[in-house]
Formats: sequence, structure tokens, C-alpha cells
Amino acid sequence: MFNSLSDRLTATFKNLRGKGRLTEADVDATVREIRRALLDADVAVSVVREFTARIRERALGAEVSGALNPSQQIVKIVNEELQEVLGGETRRIRLAKTGPTIIMLAGLQGAGKTTLAGKLAKWLKAQGHSPMLVACDLQRPNAVTQLQIVGERAGVPVFAPHPGTTSDLDVPTGDPVAVARAGVDEARQKLYDVVIVDTAGRLGVDAEMMDQARRIRQAIIPNEVLFVIDSMIGQDAVNTAVAFDEGVNFTGVVLSKLDGDARGGAALSVASVTGKPVMFASTGEGVDDFELFHPDRMASRILD
Ligand code: GDP
Repeated sequence: MFNSLSDRLTATFKNLRGKGRLTEADVDATVREIRRALLDADVAVSVVREFTARIRERALGAEVSGALNPSQQIVKIVNEELQEVLGGETRRIRLAKTGPTIIMLAGLQGAGKTTLAGKLAKWLKAQGHSPMLVACDLQRPNAVTQLQIVGERAGVPVFAPHPGTTSDLDVPTGDPVAVARAGVDEARQKLYDVVIVDTAGRLGVDAEMMDQARRIRQAIIPNEVLFVIDSMIGQDAVNTAVAFDEGVNFTGVVLSKLDGDARGGAALSVASVTGKPVMFASTGEGVDDFELFHPDRMASRILD
């Protein structure tokens, strides 16, 4: 773990073995390496600043113990702090005590919400749940069809306001709030125990889209609102996450496209500025490319 940061720190510390306590100069040299590693991983600048300040404080107070050399000691501190921010243990979905568990997906267009809906449904189905998808992205012409394809792949029904779907309710086709409400009603009637509601995104944060998402949230009172964010988003992670947190008060984060080159700094940025846990990782276009988010693995990926 932490091979390359460890290597860098070992290089920084090569003359320090045997010292009982790290000096301020030693710590500052180390913190510079850590800052570089985090910026390389595309962690937001403001988050890097705050994070490294905490590392510096802890490292300055740390005794170098017998078992660990100074670089191992600091890597340990960095690891602990990273896991603390990323949420420690993976948080599970909070299930409803009665009636269907309602999961709403929110995020920018292209973040991976529709794809995630299928993955999440298939994963829940494998655990014995009976999920249903609801298509509330009525903005993008193909979004409903795309969700239907995704539903087919996952082997779960899709509630959608278009002809030829599983719905036999009379739903106004242009109103996502009404569709969301009707979808949840149908799940309740047909005894599906999880409803996953896909919502519209825009390419950038936009007041109208956020208002729509907020109204859907108020109408269906979800157990979880998952904010889906593309791990390649880079420095925009903070602004986007803050806007969605203010807009829909999401309860968890899904990091998508982790199969790409991104080192996953967005996870640290989003978790750090919102305090919300990252719960899942999406790792490809296929319906099975999905996993629980593991803070420890992400910590090593960020610092790799
Ligand atoms: P939405 O607009 O948020 O619903 O995003 P989509 O689910 O339509 O995804 C946008 C594009 O990203 C599609 O081409 C997906 O196939 C692709 N995509 C989604 N998730 C992943 C992922 O984890 N990895 C990769 N490589 N592509 C993904």
C-alpha cells in the first residue's frame, strides 16, 4: 500500500533514521510530498490545504515509535486521516421499515445515473430484493428508452410515462414529479420493496434542474438520495457537490467511471466538503461493473 508515496517519503527521510521526534523541517518536507500526491490525484486545492494542515499538526506531535520509521509513521497518519474523511467503514443502504425503500439518484447529465440505476437494481436483486426503476429523466429524449434497456439488462421492471411500458396507471407524461409519485405508488401496490428513481441532469448545475430534483425529493421522501459524480470531474468536484448538497441534501455519494484513469481525488473532495459518505463505486459500462466503496482501497489509489 502507498508504494509510491511511501517511496517518496522514504527518500525525504533517508537521513532521518534514529531521530526520536520529527522536526518541523522534516514534517514540512513530508507535507510537501503529500500535497503533491493529492494534487496529482486531482483532490480539490482547498481540500488539499485543509487536509495537509491536519497532517502537519498530527505529525509534529507524533513520537517516532520503535516499530515504524519516520516515513512509515507519516504514511500511517495520512492513511488514518484519509479513511476518516472517506467515511471509515462502508455505509450500507438504509432500508425502509415499512413499504418500499425509495432511492433517488441525482447528478449532472452524463455522470452515470441511468447506468447506475441498472447496476444498483441488479445488485439489490441478487440480495433477494425486488427492485423497480422509475424514469423521471424526461428532459433527454433518449433517457426513458435508455432506462428501459438498463432495466432489461438488470432483469427489473421500469415504470415510465410512455406507451409500451409496464405501467398501467394514467400518468401525465411531461411532469417528472407526478411520474415519481406515481412510480412509488405503483411499487407500493405491486409490492416491490425497492424503488430507484432516475432523475434528469444537466451538463452544468442549473437552477431549474435543481428545483425539479428538490420537488421530486419532497414528493417521494426517499430513504436515500445518491449523488452520482464522475470521478474524472477534477477540480469541479467541490462546486458541483456543494450545489447538489444544498439543492437535494443527498445522503450518500456514488463515484462513477473509476475504471478510467482518474485516481479518485473527487472522492476525497466531495466527502471532505459535504461530510457525506461515499457508498458505491461504478467501474464500467456493464450492469455488473459496480462495487461497494472501500475507503481503504481508495486511500491507496489516491496516494498511489
Ligand atoms: P446519466 O446522464 O447521469 O444518466 O449518465 P449515463 O448513465 O447515461 O452515463 C453516461 C455515459 O457514461 C454512458 O455512455 C455510460 O455508458 C457511461 N458510463 C456510466 N458509468 C460508467 C462507468 O462507471 N465507467 C465507464 N467507463 N462509463 C460509464
